[in-house]
Amino acid sequence: MSVIVSHDALQTLVRTLSEIPEPDSADCWPTAQLELLAEAGGYRWNIPIEFGGDGADGNEMLEVYRELAGGSLLTTFILTQRNAACQRIETSGNVAAKAQLLPALCSGKLFATVGISHLTTSRQHLCSPQVVVVPDKDSKGVRLTGSVPWATGVTTADILVTGGTLADGRQILAAIPTSRNGIRVQPPVALMGLSSSQTSIVELSNVLVGNDEILHGPIDRVISSGSGGGAGSLGTSAVAIGAAQGTLRMFRDEVNRRPELAEFIEPLQDEAAQLTLMLRKSAKLSDDSKAPSAEEIRQRANSLALRSAQAWLAATKGAGYIAGHPAERAVRESMFFLVWSCPQQVLVRNLRELSCVMH
Ligand SMILES: Cc1cc2nc3c(=O)[nH]c(=O)nc-3n(C[C@H](O)[C@H](O)[C@H](O)COP(=O)(O)OP(=O)(O)OC[C@H]3O[C@@H](n4cnc5c(N)ncnc54)[C@H](O)[C@@H]3O)c2cc1C
Repeated sequence: MSVIVSHDALQTLVRTLSEIPEPDSADCWPTAQLELLAEAGGYRWNIPIEFGGDGADGNEMLEVYRELAGGSLLTTFILTQRNAACQRIETSGNVAAKAQLLPALCSGKLFATVGISHLTTSRQHLCSPQVVVVPDKDSKGVRLTGSVPWATGVTTADILVTGGTLADGRQILAAIPTSRNGIRVQPPVALMGLSSSQTSIVELSNVLVGNDEILHGPIDRVISSGSGGGAGSLGTSAVAIGAAQGTLRMFRDEVNRRPELAEFIEPLQDEAAQLTLMLRKSAKLSDDSKAPSAEEIRQRANSLALRSAQAWLAATKGAGYIAGHPAERAVRESMFFLVWSCPQQVLVRNLRELSCVMH
């Protein structure tokens, strides 16, 4: 277990998160949930010790994401996007930006998010870049124009970590204040689930980004060039496994009242336990070819999250299908894993399972 947060403190947070009412619409933000997270030290966990944080390593964060997602997928998802922004700052060679931003992110004075899918898993079939970068004509830095298709929590964020592509194909990532001239955050999108993550499109119109705000690049394929993690990382699988385990805990309450359902929940619980072991093994042996690949784990985690929610819905029958029932919500939220941070290999594995072409 993690050393950044005690087992008891984490379990208390998870239990509280699972008990308090959670918003489910795009005009609400989970303020109470995020306050509980902050009180538990959640904004410190991933920040290096030298910037005031707890310096959690990747393995510790996997455990925390998995446990936390069992209490609130919404809160955990928002945290992953904020932490992805922090990670891009932390891995930057821009010493001044790190010293300025990381302590303020750690204390909660600043909130950040990431809008980078147009450089990884979104709009990849389009011929022209989604966000174009040109040098500023007064040499003050660069100018960004285009549309960032997805940015979670950007309505609240002070800093958006995003990037774009230069005429020669090289890319940059920068930490930009969301108050900067030329940035327009569209109203949050109503989603199948997790609408209160307030995920929006961000329009960039000739936005000036100073050289001191550039975190990575210009370089080819900035996301896969050591800026910190990519799409479909083990962190996303930890969230999916945790979400499944949270669903199975609620399903268990139903089973306790109706023991004839036990035969259906037990294989799912065993599978979740096995996947957790597989996740740990893969994290520990990241360079070992015998370790399960991140893509394989993610597809299995997606599958478990989907089947756990649907099994619970089937067990709750028509009552579970009524809007507002937790099983109905769990099914909607589980669908998120089919579309969030799925690189092509994971997408193909998901589709193979759904179309029953198993290899
Ligand atoms: C709730 C939610 C929150 C998210 N939050 C963030 C975030 O905070 N930060 C972030 O960076 N990302 C975020 N993402 C983005 C996510 O990780 C994926 O990048 C995104 O879901 C990919 O979907 P897309 O519709 O943009 O993909 P696209 O590939 O752009 O697909 C869009 C549409 O284009 C068409 N299309 C796709 N491929 C082809 C093709 N080869 N030929 C022709 N047509 C094609 C299809 O009709 C498809 O529906 C979020 C996503 C979701 C759903």
